[in-house]
Amino acid sequence: MAVPQNKITRSRRNNRRSHDALVAGNPAECPSCGELKRPHHVCAACGTYDDREVVAKADEIDLDEDAA
Ligand SMILES: [Zn+2]
Repeated sequence: MAVPQNKITRSRRNNRRSHDALVAGNPAECPSCGELKRPHHVCAACGTYDDREVVAKADEIDLDEDAA
């Protein structure tokens, strides 16, 4: 098993980790509902992309339609 030849000091370890922080995304406002959404992604709140509805909302789907 590989063993480190020298101890990494707290200072050197913490300096390495100074770049590890996660950064927040770049949210954009949905043009149809105003909710914050990821750029270039379908809006999770209203299911639209580029002012078209591409994902039907759950309350608009008639589940009895396929039962017959
Ligand atoms: Zn939306």
